[in-house]
Amino acid sequence: MTIFPFFIPHHGCLHRCVFCQQHRISGVSSAPTPAQVSQQLAAMLPAHGSGEVAFYGGSFTLLDNSLQRDYLACVAPFIRNGQVAGIRISTRPDACDAEVVASLKMAGVTTVELGCQSFSSEVLRLSQRGHGPRDAALSVAQLRNNGVRVGLQLMPGLPGGSFEEARASLTQALSLRPDFLRIYPTVVLAGTALENFWRQGDFVPLTLDEAVDLCAELLWYCRMAGMPVIRMGLQSSHELDSGSVVVDGPYHPAFGQLVRSRLWRRALEAAAMESVTRQVHVAFADLSDALGHRRANIDYLLQRFGSFDIVALDGVSRETFVMDGRCCDVMSQACYLQPLSTAAGSMHDGSPAFIGSL
Ligand code: SF4
Repeated sequence: MTIFPFFIPHHGCLHRCVFCQQHRISGVSSAPTPAQVSQQLAAMLPAHGSGEVAFYGGSFTLLDNSLQRDYLACVAPFIRNGQVAGIRISTRPDACDAEVVASLKMAGVTTVELGCQSFSSEVLRLSQRGHGPRDAALSVAQLRNNGVRVGLQLMPGLPGGSFEEARASLTQALSLRPDFLRIYPTVVLAGTALENFWRQGDFVPLTLDEAVDLCAELLWYCRMAGMPVIRMGLQSSHELDSGSVVVDGPYHPAFGQLVRSRLWRRALEAAAMESVTRQVHVAFADLSDALGHRRANIDYLLQRFGSFDIVALDGVSRETFVMDGRCCDVMSQACYLQPLSTAAGSMHDGSPAFIGSL
């Protein structure tokens, strides 16, 4: 779906969560006025389309009521003209009660993204989110009852988090049956409270390799559950790539590809251990993920098995590969045997560390 995004950085937010710096992530210093939104939409929208106009980067449902109405009203004519199908907003999980959801629906909102981040009370407390793990369930129910699509955002690697907590949070998120997920491993951004914790030695983010491993596992569980993941990792931007915004942590401009490639590596390695040949055929569209970013997978597999070749071939289905004449499914081969946890605890079974109290 095509998204026409407008950023309202931190507008409506009750306070600043420890990890968040929307101005630097979006490169936008102030929110557009409703009149500016109207002007820009008139210039950018196609004559007909099924996309959504999105308001990201703040807590939309906590804006002044009149401003919410003005933003939504300025999109309405474009919905009536068939130039977009609806409106998407992002907000907090504790800011979508029945009244709010009903008015959003009336005004043309078709999708709401809730920044859950974690379902661990301790992680939410240490991240100074100001809401609990149960708020999302109520909001998701309200939205679904009103026929509004729901997306949930998760952030593995927050203070107090762990691999186990991330798995447990995913379990909770999946149990709410949203329409899609976004997964953003936590990075330390300049100008955040998290940067202070990090400078004081009180917070250690996931390494890039840990984040890729963890997110590959989370993605695998999502795929098994039939849950679309529409983004993994922060969207690359000039600001983020400049090196002045990301202080530490697993930011990579091609993070999503690193994660998909990690699943390919896991699948190819598992299959090769039961195979005599070291050549696989993949679909042309999968070749890049199979080889890995900068050929990291093929280098790994060459080191592991001595010889290895990945070749694109017409007729091979997406997300499968042919080895020794048999067709293998990537997700089946990449199987994670460890069952998903059902307790969103904070067990500190690995990075990231958080040493301190708030
Ligand atoms: S994470 Fe969401 S609620 Fe928290 S400061 Fe950022 S935009 Fe606001």
